Amino acid sequence: GFKCGIVGLPNVGKSTLFNALTETAAAQAANYPFCTIEPNVGEVAVPDPRLKELSQIAGSKEIIPTRLTFVDIAGLVRGASKGEGLGNQFLAHIREVDAIAFVLRCFEDPDVTHVEGRVDPIADAETIETELMLADLESLEKRVAGLEKRAKGGDKEAKATVELIERTLVVLRDGKPARMAEIDEEERKAFEALNLLTSKPVLYVCNVDEGEAATGNAHSERVKAKAEAEGAGIVVVSAKIEAEIALLPRDERREYLDTLGLEEPGLDRLIRAGYELLHLVTFFTVGPKETRAWTIENGKKAPQAAGEIHTDFEKGFIRAETIAYDDYLACKGETGAKDAGKMRLEGKDYVVRDGDVMHFRFAN
Ligand code: GDP
Repeated sequence: GFKCGIVGLPNVGKSTLFNALTETAAAQAANYPFCTIEPNVGEVAVPDPRLKELSQIAGSKEIIPTRLTFVDIAGLVRGASKGEGLGNQFLAHIREVDAIAFVLRCFEDPDVTHVEGRVDPIADAETIETELMLADLESLEKRVAGLEKRAKGGDKEAKATVELIERTLVVLRDGKPARMAEIDEEERKAFEALNLLTSKPVLYVCNVDEGEAATGNAHSERVKAKAEAEGAGIVVVSAKIEAEIALLPRDERREYLDTLGLEEPGLDRLIRAGYELLHLVTFFTVGPKETRAWTIENGKKAPQAAGEIHTDFEKGFIRAETIAYDDYLACKGETGAKDAGKMRLEGKDYVVRDGDVMHFRFAN
């Protein structure tokens, strides 16, 4: 599955937030199978209001959301790129995730020590990013020497990679993350193969005080401006509140959220933002037994979508009966959509779109 790493300086509220996420996941465990929870890995359901709409039309007995994995990656300190603290292990863990959520301390609380002695989320974000950029710089500089030799020997692929690396190095040396480098569509694959830390999409998670969860505060406003300038994601949550909500019985949550002026738990926003960051596509299978959401990467085709459900579906793929979510709703279900000519028969080259309701035909 897809993974989002939770990263931040010590004492910013990472564990509090991660525990709230896994508490929520644990509460869901009875309803949703395959919910495995390891000490620092939690799989959570991705809230999607379309599931309820679809299941009501189809009269499904069960709703099964798609899932996203969060990994709590502790151990970041200044100097991580030089192996300080748990430096190397920390960087290795980040390399394995698809996106990074930076938890930033935006709460003032004299009882909670700040490692740098002041609350400054922008400086904290820069501290983290600097370590990641230094690690990327070092790894690219190491690689480029060998490649240059091969490029001089006439290896065209090596030459192209050297060019790509040099361009990325200019960005990194300028103190900017690799994701700010200009990459052509044809170069995308080679760029991803570099497996850099700072080319992963970033989400800033502003951890504010309890009273500010609905409004944010001056600190989170500064982070918002930074996120907008970089095209990064941002969510404002209060880890403390989320920890409390996670422990409440489901039927008491609504009332508690109302007293705080919140429409939904911050965790739901966090999960959705993490999911959106990955530019994933959600498609649905809908029937009387269950309405279920599935995840694939953007650009994947119908047979690969079928393969998410079962490898046999992909191997024997014939076609996918496909109805767009909006059409499914407007026509009040499959029969209506079929009658209105809104059910498409899509073949093996069809690129799956977000919201597609799909039924796969396959031969054994
Ligand atoms: P980590 O080191 O980043 O994992 O941070 P923790 O989750 O262990 O939190 C460090 C301390 O900050 C704990 O004492 C938390 O109770 C406290 N804390 C976390 N979030 C908040 C918050 O939103 N407001 C306040 N006042 N304290 C918080």
